[in-house]
Amino acid sequence: MNQKKIIIAIDGYSSSGKSTLAKAISKKLKYKYIDTGAMYRAIALLAIREKIFNSNLWNVQNFIHILKHINLKFKWNKKLNTTDIYLNEENIQSEIRSLKVTKKVSFIAQIPEIREKLTIMQRNIGKYKGIVMDGRDIGNYVFPKSELKIFMKGSIEVRSYRRYEDLKKKGENISYEEVKKNIIYRDLMDTSRKISPLKKSVDSIEINNTFMSIEKQLNLIFQLIKKNHHNI
Ligand code: C5P
Repeated sequence: MNQKKIIIAIDGYSSSGKSTLAKAISKKLKYKYIDTGAMYRAIALLAIREKIFNSNLWNVQNFIHILKHINLKFKWNKKLNTTDIYLNEENIQSEIRSLKVTKKVSFIAQIPEIREKLTIMQRNIGKYKGIVMDGRDIGNYVFPKSELKIFMKGSIEVRSYRRYEDLKKKGENISYEEVKKNIIYRDLMDTSRKISPLKKSVDSIEINNTFMSIEKQLNLIFQLIKKNHHNI
């Protein structure tokens, strides 16, 4: 066991169940789980707080300068058995899931300087392998040599409903239609941006989980791991 640690890259559309699958795999393998969407969300939250979006002085260079001095970290949350993201020592895990951040994040994710900075951090976190990382560009760009690549998709209705239920539980006042509109918008931004767009790589395993339970998805992944990486 654990002789040869690997990198598992999980990419896919918004709300396609990437994090649920990634967390379950990381738990079973005792691997680190890294949610790269949370990193983009953290930067979007910072941009909102810095009033970047409602200023006439919107200037990437000024914002990039602020980014140089931030401290972004993941820390284990013992109570919830998950990792939380911290911006300058503040736990922002819950705030980055809010609608106000969700609406801005794909815009922030298009800025080359931001992608570059976060990619460097992600490669650094993964340098000793033994990680499950989810996002949009992990298999294609962040870790193109990762040993196992998974690409997740699902019908727009199922994905929107999942996100709608999540947001409702958190007390957000939003309609299903609004959630669906945001997911369609993010899918479009993420697949059409110039730098490292969301795209299935030729060597990835596609999972369409519109009608597939998490148990079935896990079975499939562990069969693959057994077959190809039996000594991890
Ligand atoms: O995964 P999540 O929905 O939290 O990601 C939020 C947004 O962050 C995505 O819609 C995308 O715009 C951006 N993102 C990205 N590259 C990643 C992860 C997330 O561009 N690797």
